[in-house]
Amino acid sequence: MPRRPLIAGNWKMYKTISEATSFVEEIIPDCPKGVEVAIAPPFTALYAVSERIKGSLLKLAAQDVFWEDEGAYTGEISPIMLKDIGCDYVIIGHSERRSYFFEDNEAVKKKVSAAIRVGLVPILCVGERIEERKGGKTFEVVKEQMLSALNGISFTDKVVIAYEPVWAIGTGLTATPEQAQEVHGYLRQLLREEFGKEFSESVRILYGGSVKPENISGLMEKEDIDGALVGGASLKASTFLKIVNYGRI
Ligand code: PEP
Repeated sequence: MPRRPLIAGNWKMYKTISEATSFVEEIIPDCPKGVEVAIAPPFTALYAVSERIKGSLLKLAAQDVFWEDEGAYTGEISPIMLKDIGCDYVIIGHSERRSYFFEDNEAVKKKVSAAIRVGLVPILCVGERIEERKGGKTFEVVKEQMLSALNGISFTDKVVIAYEPVWAIGTGLTATPEQAQEVHGYLRQLLREEFGKEFSESVRILYGGSVKPENISGLMEKEDIDGALVGGASLKASTFLKIVNYGRI
């Protein structure tokens, strides 16, 4: 079965409620049917966006989650709360969380398990820093990040992987389609060895790192690139629409 492409916009700490709802109203009519499109607004806009996208094909993602369902964890948001608000996906282990908020592979693993437990699909981010790439450690780093986070999950669980080389995030530098495919193919091979052929062939592996209308088509032509996690270029509706409609406009 061919994998349905997924393009997810990660808005990071941008957009008020009214900006967020205007954005989704603008894109809903022009989202293509053959591509799944998800938006990850900041927590404060999740409810309003969730209400606006009801009845549309647009999916809702959160940008992070805590691993406990409830408790005395000031400032945190639980997986049950995200499910309750209408989220389908949750981004976990984004490099900004890893570097600014010191999330390690153990925390990422707990978040992935917690998301799966309540029926949220984790978008698990992995990716090497520039010095790791230069030191020939890319495969080692992404292997450890992905397998440690997925340790203990079942081959029937739903996950999405996002390969996001840290040196390409928000920098304007994009991995070439060949560089990205090399890592995506490696990740899929690892998934096959750990969880079997069926699982590995069903998991979508997104590329993230300065994706824009000019480079999305070349990336999507590669066999193991199943979509994109888009940061900066997801903030303007007209630009994001060009990305989700790649190959058509
Ligand atoms: C991201 O935040 O996941 C990302 C890939 O950002 P950008 O597209 O801006 O590089």
